[in-house]
Amino acid sequence: MRMDTSCNLKRRKVLKLKICNYIIILMAVPFVVEGLPNSLKSTSSLPPESCNGHDGYELSIFVKKPTHYICPVCDKVLRSPRQLQCGDRFCKNCVEKILQKSEEPVCPVVDCQETVDVNEIVPDHAVRKDILALDIYCEYRDNGCNKIIKLRDLSSHIQECGYAEIDCIHKQRGCHAKVERRHLADHLASDCLYSPVTCEYCNQSLSREDLEEHVRRCPQAPVSCPNGCGVKDIPRMKVTLVLLDQATGRRNLSDTFRPDPTSSSFKQPTGDMNVASGCPLFVSQSVLETPTYIKNDTLYIKVVVDTSDLYGP
Ligand SMILES: [Zn+2]
Ligand SMILES: [Zn+2]
Ligand SMILES: [Zn+2]
Ligand SMILES: [Zn+2]
Ligand SMILES: [Zn+2]
Repeated sequence: MRMDTSCNLKRRKVLKLKICNYIIILMAVPFVVEGLPNSLKSTSSLPPESCNGHDGYELSIFVKKPTHYICPVCDKVLRSPRQLQCGDRFCKNCVEKILQKSEEPVCPVVDCQETVDVNEIVPDHAVRKDILALDIYCEYRDNGCNKIIKLRDLSSHIQECGYAEIDCIHKQRGCHAKVERRHLADHLASDCLYSPVTCEYCNQSLSREDLEEHVRRCPQAPVSCPNGCGVKDIPRMKVTLVLLDQATGRRNLSDTFRPDPTSSSFKQPTGDMNVASGCPLFVSQSVLETPTYIKNDTLYIKVVVDTSDLYGP
């Protein structure tokens, strides 16, 4: 049993190596055929070949269907065409598929079947140029774009097409919305939770996500009457708490806030006590418990309620 296993392993190793060699040879092919003298290279401003892993172009995108430029492997319009020795043309990607299929590849065209010599595969620049100059519909025709463009201008058009679906510019911050480019401004202005907005009451800048919570606490935001009389837009009054210095009178501690009368802490009490609310870091216990603030077991807190905002000047 042991002998068998090790034997199998060895065999597999050899096989792997063989596949590796084969792949290395295949990968080298494009470089060989691409290495044409400069005089033979296309001088036009054609876009670089970008066919990695792509079959041909869908016939449906073309305004006039180029049925004479169909790749026999993928049945689509030739992308980065390569011509074999036999004269048949295939997409660059489809030639790679033919070569990977067998160690002695043959042309897959039914009445051809000629042996493929990897050294004789050449890019067909003339046909590529013809195809790139054909009129196509924009990729986002179904969304409403009725532009007709040259195939070679497709990617530059997509960069600016108003109907192209793009990620929200706040994707990094967590917005997963996909919107048509022409709707991005609307999305940012009204829907996007991550676009910065300004609080209309205090002018603070914050993300829309935090706005609702902010307005609930914003000292400048008006409130509705807590007694339910229906009056809205009541400005918040200003409340100042002062802990009096009983020793010198010079070290009074104070803090100011604008309570929200609709919160359970500040509404008219219905029991012994409302939910507690206050300024958590107002004064530390150790400072409080000194003769400055506590004398004869007594401390004094002055409460100033400024109602001038409520009634205007
Ligand atoms: Zn193809
Ligand atoms: Zn052929
Ligand atoms: Zn378009
Ligand atoms: Zn967004
Ligand atoms: Zn505010």
